[in-house]
Amino acid sequence: MSERAIFFDRDGTVNVEKEYIYDPDQVELIDGALEALSLAKSKGFRIFIISNQSGIARGLATETQVSRVNERLEDLVAPAGVKFDGVYFCPHLPTISGRCTCRKPARGMIDRALETFDLDLSESYVVGDRMLDMGLAHNIGATGILVRTGYGAIEEKQLPSGGGPHHIVDDVLAAVKLILDEIRD
Ligand SMILES: [Mg+2]
Ligand SMILES: [Zn+2]
Repeated sequence: MSERAIFFDRDGTVNVEKEYIYDPDQVELIDGALEALSLAKSKGFRIFIISNQSGIARGLATETQVSRVNERLEDLVAPAGVKFDGVYFCPHLPTISGRCTCRKPARGMIDRALETFDLDLSESYVVGDRMLDMGLAHNIGATGILVRTGYGAIEEKQLPSGGGPHHIVDDVLAAVKLILDEIRD
């Protein structure tokens, strides 16, 4: 049977946005993120981190550095019993490394998840602080939830006329609560 998933953006959504984060010590969870992730997991969602990390293409960081930051994030949520079903990142930037199929809003990272899991994308969600995340939601036929943390409050002020978020909420915990309310109907 197909499962539901929540695809969480990383910076500005689950952990505090700090421009570029390449040092594990910079990883700081957003208030309520731990509760949000553990709630999602306890209700049977598969949970993923999907992150554009163009700093790699820009030569600002290595894949190893980005992986270490991801490992810190995994370490921070582990004590709450939260384990991500996948943590993916896109290291590219079209103007430097050429077009790729994984940079959000493209769906490559979702397709990686689908290699391992049987997911019903129409019953799944993308939670993020950028329009790129909302574009991804549209591209895969999922529901997009924009959070006002990170760049979200700025993005909210300049929403396009089409392809915008399905919902806008204050933060990741509010996003997960909204999802749980929605599936209860
Ligand atoms: Mg972000
Ligand atoms: Zn890519």
